[in-house]
Amino acid sequence: MRKGILARLHGYRYEHTLGCERAAIYLAELYGGDVEKAAFSAILHDITKHLSKEEQLNLSKKYGIIPCNAEFSEPKMLHGKTAAAIAKDEYGAPQDVCDAIACHTTGKAGMTVLDKILYLADYIEDTRDFPGVKNARELAKEDIDRALLYCFDQTLIELVTRAKLIHGDTIAAYNDLIAQGVRWRDAQD
Ligand code: FE
Ligand code: FE
Repeated sequence: MRKGILARLHGYRYEHTLGCERAAIYLAELYGGDVEKAAFSAILHDITKHLSKEEQLNLSKKYGIIPCNAEFSEPKMLHGKTAAAIAKDEYGAPQDVCDAIACHTTGKAGMTVLDKILYLADYIEDTRDFPGVKNARELAKEDIDRALLYCFDQTLIELVTRAKLIHGDTIAAYNDLIAQGVRWRDAQD
């Protein structure tokens, strides 16, 4: 099944997916997650990312996914949810694997260990090269929640800087960690 899934991925996305699988296995081992499920979710997480905006919206309709305002303005944002639908429909993935895939783009409140592993693996895998990825990798070795908050902070800063809509689930994910007292640096007043 893994081979069949990988055959659907091309170019950078193929390399990124393999990197994400390696990172997911590493994080699952480090944080006591289910290694098999972490790898399975990683292999499938971007399976629909190549689709156009129209195809993304059509697939959402097919699977009963109702886009929010942020998803309508940026339909590519739906690729987590559409990939989760494909994971279930075409590969019979278990619910927790589908849930992790569904929230890998936005995060959400109350993320499970598997959700966190996939989100973080996607962010830090070794083909990634952007400002802040080194910090994220360092934090990922030490504390999964602090690393996750770091990722959300960077994502929120970028969205605000580019004047993009922020998905409600991303704000909920950030608020959830902050409310739990998670910090990755000394917060200023
Ligand atoms: Fe993705
Ligand atoms: Fe990805």
